[in-house]
Amino acid sequence: MAAVEVTGQVVAYLRRLPSGEVLDQIELDLPAQTLPTRAVLYTVTPELLDRIGLAPERVPGALHAAEHAAIGLLPLVATCDRGDIGGVSTDLHADTGLPTVFVYDGHPGGAGFAERGFSRITQWLTATRDAVRACECTDGCPSCVHSPKCGNGNDPLDKAGAIALLSAVLGALDSSP
Ligand SMILES: [Zn+2]
Ligand SMILES: [Zn+2]
Repeated sequence: MAAVEVTGQVVAYLRRLPSGEVLDQIELDLPAQTLPTRAVLYTVTPELLDRIGLAPERVPGALHAAEHAAIGLLPLVATCDRGDIGGVSTDLHADTGLPTVFVYDGHPGGAGFAERGFSRITQWLTATRDAVRACECTDGCPSCVHSPKCGNGNDPLDKAGAIALLSAVLGALDSSP
């Protein structure tokens, strides 16, 4: 668990007609907004990535897909709506120095969802891995690794990489005391 600050910045917004047609785009120059909240995070070591043979160029997509899927499955263990939860994944995080996946509470100060995910991490990530693996799509779809509120347009996403990554993380959890 970690207390983290999630920083979001609104850089522009679109003005639309009631029909949905975009009128114009207004550029904004606003200070970044910070949301002090709580997150559950896990890191992945280079040794682990090596062991499962995930090439470096596939790591961001695997982390990102695993993050989306974990957000989708958190309601299973934490009685929340996926809209209450946000996530960040990066192949090199400044604070951890490692590839890292964060899932954070979307409420200021945290509403306990991240804690519940943390306390049931094995159950949560097992359900996540199994759901992605059971999905019949080939490259990811809205039922498994796509997220409706992704800030990066659901790119990159690596479904097979996420399954391998989650399995390896579960294996590491299993063998740690
Ligand atoms: Zn799918
Ligand atoms: Zn995303």
